[in-house]
Amino acid sequence: MSNDLILPNTSRRGFLGGAAALAAGSALPLGGHALAKAPLTNTQSPYFYRFALGTAEVTVVSDGPLPLGDPGTNFVGVPKETVYGMLETNFLPKDNVVLEQNIPVVNFGDRLVMFDTGMGFSKAFGPTTGRLQKSLEEAGIKPGDVDAIVCSHAHIDHIGGICTAEGKPLFPNAQIYISQIDFDFWTDESKLNSPLKAFVEHARANLLPVRERIVFFKDQQEFLPGVQALAAPGHTAGHHIFQVASAGKSFAFLGDLTHHAILLTENPRLEFAYDSDPKQAVQSRLKLLGMLSESKTPVMSYHFAWPGFGNLAKAGDGFRYYPAPMQMLRG
Ligand SMILES: [Zn+2]
Repeated sequence: MSNDLILPNTSRRGFLGGAAALAAGSALPLGGHALAKAPLTNTQSPYFYRFALGTAEVTVVSDGPLPLGDPGTNFVGVPKETVYGMLETNFLPKDNVVLEQNIPVVNFGDRLVMFDTGMGFSKAFGPTTGRLQKSLEEAGIKPGDVDAIVCSHAHIDHIGGICTAEGKPLFPNAQIYISQIDFDFWTDESKLNSPLKAFVEHARANLLPVRERIVFFKDQQEFLPGVQALAAPGHTAGHHIFQVASAGKSFAFLGDLTHHAILLTENPRLEFAYDSDPKQAVQSRLKLLGMLSESKTPVMSYHFAWPGFGNLAKAGDGFRYYPAPMQMLRG
């Protein structure tokens, strides 16, 4: 593809043909074409980000962005105009709210632990999801090396990457950790005729083939060394967040405690259309975001803008999210 197809001559001439050309004197070739020596590449950096946590190494990989659609129908409990206004103030589109899917894979040295798994083969939210395997490959992580998959809850964008459509486990050596409440609720055959059908189908397709490998954790339990579950019910009844620690450093993996760095964080009393119990979700959000901001515990958020790592602080009636600067590793 030539540059001319991507950047029309007219705009190039418009930009460079005025003051810049005058300033450059005779730098422009005759005819006004100022082509760079290098072609446009139209490629992107690999979808992983790595940082240190104590003696552990965290690699965030992405399952790809998940477009939810109209923010006014997804974030409820206040007038739509309030939601649109919050987005506009933060330079975000008002017609489509896009959630990232940030999956931290923590290498503790003796164990590789992955948190949530993306949409997998479901295209319920379009073609941009389902990238987990590719992102892992880009990051140099082999699925067979993953020892544990920790699931915040059993929604389709969190358990979807465990098996193929044919029911083959994609992480052949991994134990799966999830709350029993969520496993029982979202794999329940009797809900296949309910409005939850698509969610139940995908949970059954991903969790039932690995049933023998599933371990249930409990609230407050450190079920793996350096990984503690904290109940955060409301989004689903068995939704949990996790404290992840290594050598005195820690972060909290938030799962779906808050889906958006602005909407449910700056106004934690907003409700989310996919919450099983929106009022309970608000209470969990206020309690746990309050606790994390007070203790200044860094957060790793599944749905915040890539890569979803930062800090929270109390701000008015809500919280403000501060994205962490990029951390450069040696080598
Ligand atoms: Zn989610």
